[in-house]
Amino acid sequence: MCGIIGYTGKNRACEILIDGLRRLEYRGYDSAGVSILDGGEISTVKTKGRIDALAEKLKDAQHMGTTGIGHTRWATHGAPNDTNAHPHMSKDGRFAIVHNGIIENYELLREKLTKRGFEFQSETDSEVVVNLLDYYYNGDFKEAVMKVITRLEGSFALGIVCADYPGKLFAVKSMSPLIIGVGVGENYFASDVTAFIGHTKNIIHLDDGQFAEITPNEINVYDPLGRRVEPKYSKVTWDAEAAEKGGYDHFMLKEIMEQPRALEATINPRVKNGKVSPEGLDGLCLEKFRRIVITACGSAYHAGVVGKYVIEELCRIPTETALASEFRYSDPIVDKDTLVIAISQSGETADTLAAMREAKKRGAPVLAIVNVVGSSVATLADYVLYTWAGPEIAVATTKGYTTQVAMLSVFAVWAASRLGTITPEREAELTHALCELPERVQRAIDLSSNISRIAHANYKHSSLFFIGRNIDYACCLEASLKLKEISYIHSEAYAAGELKHGTIALISPEQLVIAIACYEGLREKTMSNIQQVKARGANVLGVAREGDRTIVAEADDVIFVPNTEPLFMAIPEIIPMQLFAYYVAKENGCDIDKPKNLAKSVTVE
Ligand code: GLU
Repeated sequence: MCGIIGYTGKNRACEILIDGLRRLEYRGYDSAGVSILDGGEISTVKTKGRIDALAEKLKDAQHMGTTGIGHTRWATHGAPNDTNAHPHMSKDGRFAIVHNGIIENYELLREKLTKRGFEFQSETDSEVVVNLLDYYYNGDFKEAVMKVITRLEGSFALGIVCADYPGKLFAVKSMSPLIIGVGVGENYFASDVTAFIGHTKNIIHLDDGQFAEITPNEINVYDPLGRRVEPKYSKVTWDAEAAEKGGYDHFMLKEIMEQPRALEATINPRVKNGKVSPEGLDGLCLEKFRRIVITACGSAYHAGVVGKYVIEELCRIPTETALASEFRYSDPIVDKDTLVIAISQSGETADTLAAMREAKKRGAPVLAIVNVVGSSVATLADYVLYTWAGPEIAVATTKGYTTQVAMLSVFAVWAASRLGTITPEREAELTHALCELPERVQRAIDLSSNISRIAHANYKHSSLFFIGRNIDYACCLEASLKLKEISYIHSEAYAAGELKHGTIALISPEQLVIAIACYEGLREKTMSNIQQVKARGANVLGVAREGDRTIVAEADDVIFVPNTEPLFMAIPEIIPMQLFAYYVAKENGCDIDKPKNLAKSVTVE
């Protein structure tokens, strides 16, 4: 979410901005635009679609200005179209802004500004920023920027130009990436160094809340109250390719590490005044549903398996999870009293779209959980809940999956509260646990420092088993798929109680069994299953909640996961499993981000 760039110097801004935007393309986007400041006027060109389309639009215009800002948008509020594309301009043309992230309180700000006579052209949350600047401006650019920042909640990296201040840029960072590039007689800012690494490797890091005033020869960094602070200079040692991955070896690892932020962006805006209240569900009459059917493919299906446990437990509505590729041809028994929940990261999954059409044909309302605004799934659905994970580049999903589970959990708490199937005390407890998830996931990452060692000890296995019960079993399905997808090692996920009904015949000495035993209610049962495989010589890697010492005596090795509300355990416990798959694939020299035979968005049957 997604790319911004700013330039001020002696060269034509237009080419530099376009080149920078191209280097940010890998972050994923759906529209792009630039604003160039020249002779006291700002001209803005933007378009839906690729950078090439933007370059084409700019081809004939003589943009001689040497100051400007550029943007690649990954839509979160409003469809990807020309109007919603950034930059956004104030009505009098004095200000232009680019924004990455989400302004969580934009509705309130928009309402207030509208009452004061401001007009809005787009559906974006971002446009409030430019109207607020207009509102606060009394000739002092810096003061207006400062006042605006204090009004904004959420995550935002902003780039701002003002027609009254030739050669000047403001860059603001708050919980979204932004870095400053220091040149000679020219300066830059961008979402990451890739955008300007061809021009300079000298950078300034901004802390969250700080903002910078940038001219060709001077950079001043301020704290949120407008007081000058000492800039934190450093030098980049990476090459351009490494920089795109933020210094990580692979997009997958970068995306695993991004999960705390992705979960925060998905959960936080849905909790208002201590209560879960997701937008986009107006008119959804829960009381009439006798059944819920969740349909999806791949990892999204596994998110649905977790969702079934959570929804049934909290809402007491019979819920089943159906593979979309099966559901679509099953002459499904759904009607207006069935709520169908379709899940897709890309929003273009052909099987999921077909399943949705089948459901709609039979009169069932469809609620979509999807990551891409304006995608086919979002357009076809009757109700939409967006997972604000940001673009996912690695083919094997990580943050896409955990945000889907989070969104299903948010939905379940909201629905249970509406249906009265949980007490207000339980609702408060669950809401608190949801808000804690980003921090729990960060802790899960921190606790995983032993995973590369464990992967090194195990990467030669040609086949392994994952076992667990209830939510742990759902996690096994996803853990097993992750390993298969990127390391090509065969594995099977088994409900731990089912082993003895056949598969235990395959357990022989040295067979690796990964036993997930985090789900509190059935921990003892899973422990018995661990003993059963141990008795047949298996090598057991246990995954258990922090503080659970008894598993240390049973398993050969243990990975600990931070404790949280048992119903939400699926989120922290998948983190070490994602990392295990990652490091095993790395030990085996696999092409982690682009595994063989797989595509990111499966648009065929
Ligand atoms: N929330 C903004 C929008 O939807 C910015 C999205 C982005 O980060 O690209 O326009």
